[in-house]
Amino acid sequence: MTHPSEICEIAIKKFENLPKTGKPTQDEWTILAAVILYDKSANSLKVVSLGTGTKSLPKTKYCKNGLILNDSHAEVIAKRAFQKYLFSELRKDDGIFTFNQETVQFEVKEDLSFHFYTSHVPCGDACIIPEKDESYSEEPVIRQNAQDIGAVRLKPGKGIRTLSMSCSDKLAKWNVLGVQGSLLSSLISKPIILESINLSCDFEHEAIERAIWKRFNSQEFDVSHPLIRKGFELEIDFEFCFDKDKNPCPNTIAWADVQERPLQVSVNGKRLGVGKKQFYNKKSSLDICKRLLFENYLDFVGSNHLFLKKFGLTRDELFAMKYEDVKNLSKSYQKTWKDLKIKYFKMWVEKDFCFKEFSSIYENKP
Ligand SMILES: [Zn+2]
Repeated sequence: MTHPSEICEIAIKKFENLPKTGKPTQDEWTILAAVILYDKSANSLKVVSLGTGTKSLPKTKYCKNGLILNDSHAEVIAKRAFQKYLFSELRKDDGIFTFNQETVQFEVKEDLSFHFYTSHVPCGDACIIPEKDESYSEEPVIRQNAQDIGAVRLKPGKGIRTLSMSCSDKLAKWNVLGVQGSLLSSLISKPIILESINLSCDFEHEAIERAIWKRFNSQEFDVSHPLIRKGFELEIDFEFCFDKDKNPCPNTIAWADVQERPLQVSVNGKRLGVGKKQFYNKKSSLDICKRLLFENYLDFVGSNHLFLKKFGLTRDELFAMKYEDVKNLSKSYQKTWKDLKIKYFKMWVEKDFCFKEFSSIYENKP
């Protein structure tokens, strides 16, 4: 069994032990989220990915080659850093996966489970408390219809609007499709789900449950029901919690339990300290942006003849494919996602198609 307080504490400690760069100043607040691995046989916990952040970009700043991170909310950063961790584990002999030669699929070892930590109630539906009809969080939430609980919402943003969906909506999606995303789905036997969501702040249990799984009909979709738990009597607190008298920290920290570049700090969806000239350059992108996760996938599958054979592709054919077409190699993932959108997420904003058309051989132009 895992204990919520232990999960909260190990995530906060991990954050505290990271270098200062990218952390909030005393006048700033942020959100911290993390994915924690629990090994039942060893009864041990380990943070495998972590993210901080509160910002999402306006749609005018999007990059059609997938080099900029549109959504830098902590929950999304932690999830994308988790994918970076998964790609690194696929390459290990003693990692979290075993390989099934018959099905040509990776399987997560039996004793392992994944747990989520966040320092704040996820933005969107989980912040809406119906009885009182008020927003739980004091952050601005774009509410097309505040009474409409269980509704899909865009992330808050000042000025030009963002196309990023709220973290409540994304967590809900992950509870059906898994946190591994579409690319990794084509390589693993089943979705990787979160067994529990652990929070170090106060929250309305019912609102989070509704936001992240109760709004789905379990008969139609295979929905996971993560335990929603509060860490209490914590030995350490997250010191940069939301404070209405402070400013949101513009920086994002993305950390993953990997050998190469475990830690990357960003602002406005690009690595910190990048000049304007380099803005649309791969070198200034985060490993967890769409494009670089895509290249990570191509690099792995392109050198694995079993998967190439399974997909009926040569290495060159794979490398010439567009992002969207490669994502479609995960047929059941794409089918479920399509059904889910029709049924529950009609409002889910589809990025203009040009934001998904890039391939690894395209020029690095904005
Ligand atoms: Zn959020």
